[in-house]
Parts: sequence; structure tokens; C-alpha cells
Amino acid sequence: MSRYLSPRLASLVPYTPGEQPRERRYIKLNTNESPFPPSPRALAGAREAAARAELYPDPTMKALREAIAGTLGVAPECVLPTNGSDEILSYAFCAFCDKETPAVFPDVTYGFYSVFATLYGVPYRTVPLKEDLTLDPRDYAAAGGTVFIANPNAPTGLALSLREVEEIVRSNRENVVVIDEAYVDFGAESAVSLTKKYENLLVTQTFSKSRSMAGARLGFGVASPALIRDLDTVKYSQNPYNVNAMSAAMGIGALADAETFAANCRAIIKTRAYTAGALGGLGFEVIPSLTNFLFVRHPSISGADLYTALRERGILVRHFTSPRIADYNRITVGSQEEMEALVAAAEAILEETK
Ligand code: PMP
Repeated sequence: MSRYLSPRLASLVPYTPGEQPRERRYIKLNTNESPFPPSPRALAGAREAAARAELYPDPTMKALREAIAGTLGVAPECVLPTNGSDEILSYAFCAFCDKETPAVFPDVTYGFYSVFATLYGVPYRTVPLKEDLTLDPRDYAAAGGTVFIANPNAPTGLALSLREVEEIVRSNRENVVVIDEAYVDFGAESAVSLTKKYENLLVTQTFSKSRSMAGARLGFGVASPALIRDLDTVKYSQNPYNVNAMSAAMGIGALADAETFAANCRAIIKTRAYTAGALGGLGFEVIPSLTNFLFVRHPSISGADLYTALRERGILVRHFTSPRIADYNRITVGSQEEMEALVAAAEAILEETK
């Protein structure tokens, strides 16, 4: 830290992204990326947009907003595209939290929420998940702050039903409820339809996972026009060109290719079932997941030891050290071949520990 850093940020511990190693080829199951390439239509869009990159992109993102709105069945003024969904989450912390309105979220969830709260200097309160890592919606009745819930949750993979999400939104009419649906396309119910009914609901989604575009950094929020205008105020006060032209064009292309999207989601769901079954057969406890990852632990090896042993075998998974989940590893569902390699490695590791 230099002596110039604002004391406001002195205690900020930044978010630690999963490793992106370049020195060796790993089977990469640590950051919930897609094993499939982006749609050819997304690539064609990027190529065309790159040829006109001497111009700034349209700051209103009209074409992309309309494409997202058309896909989700909402009005374009209910959509705000951002640089990954991390950015719309950042806007939400900035716009809807302050000293009087703390952020409220589960104790085990996406690690960025507490980082954003600290960055913006807003207090936050964590609500413990139940012993089995499920979330009880009743714990969020009149939560007294802006609620952030990843649904499905990360890193557990567990999802709330639409009815449970609505219960939380309905009981917090005085505050905004943010439902982070980064993983919703792999089998959970989306709350997007509820944004027409509840003006305090913001749903965030991403192109990073189910649409194979993590490298393009494209996400968005869906909400009532009034909430979107608030978030737009943050965007225009920070970076009016938050989404670059190539990524916007990729997004439009990806949305136009519904077949590839559906086929890829189906493949992940199938491979997830195979992996959960195979790991279960090796004695792993596998939390039922509606995402593109599995959260697993084994009675005879620690989470940290399994992580290290897999890494030595060229397989990267994600291990979190916070005490409640240190026994677990989060394993991205990759291609069928990658998951067969993972299962074989896990079997060999368990054999060695006997
Ligand atoms: N929410 C959750 C729960 C996530 O796991 C992630 C991915 N790290 C994000 C949001 C952000 O993803 P992106 O910025 O790539 O859209």
C-alpha cells in the first residue's frame, strides 16, 4: 500500500478471482466457464463490430437491450447491459445501499458481495444458511436492508423456487431485492417475470456461463423502469461506454442462436448428472446442484488436500478456506471427457489415501 491510498480503502480485501494459469495446460474446472466455444453467430458479430471500432459504441445499447428484452419477454426500458454481471451488482451496491440501508446476504454466497459493500463503505449483515447449506426464505422477511441473493446460490449450487423468491421480494417492499441469476439457465426458475409485478426487484444475469462468453464480459440487469433509471445514473456517472461494441455484438449474435444455447445447457445438465452419480459412487457427498458446478466433500480427505492432489494431476478446481465450507471443493461441470478425467483422478487419489 502506498502512503497515498485513501484510508477509506486501507482495510479493503479485494475479491480473489479463480486462477487463470497460463504456464501449464490444466483441465480447468475452477471458474465455472463453459467448455463450449461461443456461438458462431456471436463470433460473426464480434468480427463485424471490430471493423468499426474507431467509433464509440452506442451508449444506450439499444440493439442489445432490445435483443435481451425480446428473449426474456420484457420491455427494453427494463434492461441494462453491463460489463459482466459483476458490474450490475456493483451498480446496485452503489445505488441502493448506504449507512441507513445496509446490504443483507447469506453467510455462504458469492464472495464479491462483501467486497462491494466494503468498497462503497456500506455496512452489511450476513444471514447464516441452515446447517445443510439451504436458505430459509423466512430469514429474509423484512430484512431491513437491500437483499442480495444468488439463485442458484454459489458455491453451493442450491436454488430457491420462484414462490420462495417471491416471498422474499414481497416481504421487503421498502427495499430493493437483488436476485443474482448467474447460473439460472442450468435448471432453476428465473424471477424475471416477477419484475413486472414488483418495483423493488432487480434480477441480474450473465452471458459468461450458459452462453460461453466469460471472456467478453457481458451481463445485464432486469427490473422496473424506475430501478433501471437509477442504475443508469450510476453507469452514466462512471463509464457511459461500459460495454464495448464487440461484446455487445457477440451478445446479440448469441441470443439469436437459441439452438446452440439450448443444446449446450442440455449437455451441461446431462454431464452434471453423470458426474454427480460417479462422485457419489466414490463416496463423495454431492450437494444437488442446479448450476454448472458441483459442491462436494469426502469423509476421508480434506477439501484442501483434494484440491492439491487434483492440481498435481493437472486438474484445477476451486477450494474456499472459510471455515464453514473448507471441507468442500467446487467443481465446474466441463465436457464429458473432462469430467471422466476428474472422476478417474479422484478415484486414484482416494485409493492412495487408503
Ligand atoms: N454472480 C455469481 C454468483 C457468480 O458466481 C459470478 C461469477 N464469478 C458472477 C455473478 C459474475 O459473473 P460475470 O461478471 O462474469 O457475469
